[in-house]
Amino acid sequence: MIQPEAADPVPESNASPMQTEAPLYDVLVVGAGIAGLSLAAAAAREGRTVLLIAARDTHPREFRAEKFSSSEMGVLDRLGLGTGARAVATPLHTVIEGRWGRLIKRMASQEFAFHYPELVDAVRAALPRGVTSVTGRVAATATGADVQMLTLADGRRFAGRLLVVATGLGEGLQRELGFERRLVSQGNTLVYGFNTAFTYALLAGEQLIWSAEAGGDGVAYLTLFPLGTQIRANLFTYWPRGGTAAEAFLADPTGTMRRLMPGLARAYGTIEPVGAIQQRPIDLVEITNPVRDGVVVIGDAFCTTCPAYGTGIRKALSDVTVLASLLPAWFATPGMGAAKIGSYYKHPKKVAADQLSVGVSLRLRRMTMGRDLVSRFLSLRSTVYRRGQQAVVDAAAKLRRAAPAASGTPAANP
Ligand SMILES: Cc1cc2nc3c(=O)[nH]c(=O)nc-3n(C[C@H](O)[C@H](O)[C@H](O)COP(=O)(O)OP(=O)(O)OC[C@H]3O[C@@H](n4cnc5c(N)ncnc54)[C@H](O)[C@@H]3O)c2cc1C
Repeated sequence: MIQPEAADPVPESNASPMQTEAPLYDVLVVGAGIAGLSLAAAAAREGRTVLLIAARDTHPREFRAEKFSSSEMGVLDRLGLGTGARAVATPLHTVIEGRWGRLIKRMASQEFAFHYPELVDAVRAALPRGVTSVTGRVAATATGADVQMLTLADGRRFAGRLLVVATGLGEGLQRELGFERRLVSQGNTLVYGFNTAFTYALLAGEQLIWSAEAGGDGVAYLTLFPLGTQIRANLFTYWPRGGTAAEAFLADPTGTMRRLMPGLARAYGTIEPVGAIQQRPIDLVEITNPVRDGVVVIGDAFCTTCPAYGTGIRKALSDVTVLASLLPAWFATPGMGAAKIGSYYKHPKKVAADQLSVGVSLRLRRMTMGRDLVSRFLSLRSTVYRRGQQAVVDAAAKLRRAAPAASGTPAANP
């Protein structure tokens, strides 16, 4: 168990933490993922005393986000966490996009690739001194309009004016606090991650995004990108886990990708996985009763999104930015009642970010599942269009052929 570092600042106590000896922190953050760490840094930079409670000393080595855009890195930069994040990230500058079986465009796009656990550990190591970190499991909570109390499994107790729940997909603390989770879409997305022996040498900083072609029902796209010394692949599908398509992919990943994306194989060669294939099913869930005294929920703990859309971290950092903007006013007056907390969930930027992420997550799935129909329509439309064009060309040629004959016809005598 890690004890608070000796050099950490002692929080000022300006209210009685419910008859306990525990010092009163301004903010207690539970969960050391990207949301919890960023919020802890943001609050500390505003001069708040912050206690961060992490379940483990390092982030579990699990398959999570592997890319985000320069705007997310910009948020980390502003929080003083960007240098740590950049140290474990591979910068990407160009997207090569393939659709309908062929290359359609190449464009500039500043992004970063990383292994999420390494990114989180690097960000955690860069936290400002104003954040006190402890490792442990919350066993009991007592929350209210003034003081929030947390008791860890080993008996340590901590008090704070505001409790921020940033526990991602972990449900235990949410249940303990009485939050209800609604399953918006069960098994919404099935994502695969693997290293590849990609035969086409991606130039440093280039990534390829290839949409499944006609017949690739249930597959959104494959993306290939450099991550450190490897070429990494993420395949985003809407297959049910353990279903026929998922099993067929695991049995023959190379053959399945060639069948789903023959245009990719023609343009760049076969995609061969190297080493283990990681597989991760994702449910879309959201909290339905978030507003209560003293407690705020951020990041995936509040709602999850489809990773094919790639905005999980953007949404988590948007939560952090919105909440951080409200903290000065919240701490300027006594109490941390539901009216203050409610203003976070009603904030237009939060509402817009949630609606966009969840809305697009569901729309992407619907569109992908209907891809065969759409593709058939598009290909029928382009056949009709091509035939129409051909008819115009033929008619023009006919006219041209007829014209010399016409001009050679002796003019009628005036
Ligand atoms: C396969 C996959 C691919 C993805 N790809 C992308 C992508 O390309 N781009 C993108 O932007 N997003 C992507 N996402 C989503 C992104 O990973 C998440 O949105 C983001 O990591 C959420 O961060 P968070 O801090 O809210 O949660 P987390 O990172 O899950 O952090 C929560 C932390 O809380 C801890 N915890 C849980 N319970 C407790 C407890 N009781 N006490 C203390 N600690 C606790 C956990 O151990 C964890 O450290 C992907 C997700 C998956 C699964």
